[in-house]
Amino acid sequence: MTHKVLIANRGEIALRALRACKELGILTVAVYSSADKELKHLRFADESVCIGPAQPLNSYLNIPAILSAAELTEVNAIYPGYGFLAEDADFAEKCEKSGFKFIGPSAEIIRQMGDKITAKYLAESAGIQTVPGYKEDIPEDEDSFKKIAADIGYPIMIKATAGGGGRGMRIVKSENELISSAQITMQEAKNAFGNEKIYLEKFIENPRHVEIQVVGDGKGNAIHLGTRDCSMQRRHQKIIEEAPALNLNEDSLNETLDACINLCKKIKYEGAGTLEFLYENNEFYFIEMNTRIQVEHPVTEMITGYDIVKAQLRIALGMKMTLEQKNINFKGHAIECRINAEDPETFQPSPGQITKMHIPGGFGIRYDSHIYGGYIVPPYYDSLLSKIITLANHRESAIKRMLSALDEFFIDGIKTNHSLHQELLVDETFVKNKHTINYLENEFLKNEK
Ligand code: ADP
Repeated sequence: MTHKVLIANRGEIALRALRACKELGILTVAVYSSADKELKHLRFADESVCIGPAQPLNSYLNIPAILSAAELTEVNAIYPGYGFLAEDADFAEKCEKSGFKFIGPSAEIIRQMGDKITAKYLAESAGIQTVPGYKEDIPEDEDSFKKIAADIGYPIMIKATAGGGGRGMRIVKSENELISSAQITMQEAKNAFGNEKIYLEKFIENPRHVEIQVVGDGKGNAIHLGTRDCSMQRRHQKIIEEAPALNLNEDSLNETLDACINLCKKIKYEGAGTLEFLYENNEFYFIEMNTRIQVEHPVTEMITGYDIVKAQLRIALGMKMTLEQKNINFKGHAIECRINAEDPETFQPSPGQITKMHIPGGFGIRYDSHIYGGYIVPPYYDSLLSKIITLANHRESAIKRMLSALDEFFIDGIKTNHSLHQELLVDETFVKNKHTINYLENEFLKNEK
């Protein structure tokens, strides 16, 4: 049977998915908004359908429009990518109800992982260590509530169970802020997510962000593809990612990897997923599981030689494949720099026309991007333009290779964060791998001023 997949996304990930489909002999349907007629992958797709105007709500988030396009073009499956509807359980459910295979885990698993309290319970049930805290119903009585918070110990973090994308979180430094912070978080969560339920976590003060890539076949078999370190971030947006995460406590790492596999086997996880952790003082603390492909998946692919997007497609479409931990070998160190259309100092988005550009190449360099000379970056979407990925035997050489790639790379016409990467890659704290999730904002950018 010939498979035909609708790619319900745009930009670099749509192109990434299209390339994987082509290699597997899968026919592709690209969908696009009226602001995206010039997207690169439209030229290579077997068919393409305009699904609405520029505003994401009316196009890439418009479920009826996407399902109509799927019906019209008679695809058998839908690839969600990341962002947009990728973690929308209702979308996954509607795809299945309309007769299209959603390429990812079941709607039920997406829903459970999207609810942070449920996700924590699930993780704990598989032996994964989570951030210490309180996830039962918050008592009405203020004194009991204060006692719970005091037992966790300040500073604490109040989080909305339905929160996401960095929203629905508040740090509480002392008891006198507790009640008002809880009330504000509940109100905000009710307005933003239609669910006011909150829970408490110990605030982990200066951790690294370490995540684990997993792949499951949906039948109870699962493997891991090791770790990534994504500590270089601003406002919870990752900027540089690497694989593997270095200098981890070996016992904690092995326990955590085993527990992650255990969870995936237990819930019969299907497709690719990422378990995100805060790592401090040799301990891993689970914060959430993303039930989709991640932007930074290429660094893992580079050190394993394992094509995660092809695995997602194969698993979902029931194509022949093997999924065995013993076949996964790790070699070298990979780094990814996210090039965004934004001012390197103010971080303001910088859409517009790319007048001229040159992409890097050479041994150990991978370049994932949908942009080209003359392309107009629309103002409506995420500012990610390109991902430059380098692979070398050691971290030091991967950094040097990245610097050389960045030297060759240029984009004219719009502002990008190219120079920020060049500065970060020679920064002593980064080079020594001593940075935590707070480093870029609290130290590097402040020292620059
Ligand atoms: P979201 O789903 O909104 O991305 P996460 O739970 O993944 O929310 O948290 C986003 C970020 O917030 C984390 O990467 C980390 O930087 C910070 N964070 C979350 N929980 C804690 C915590 N308990 N202590 C310290 N920082 C935290």
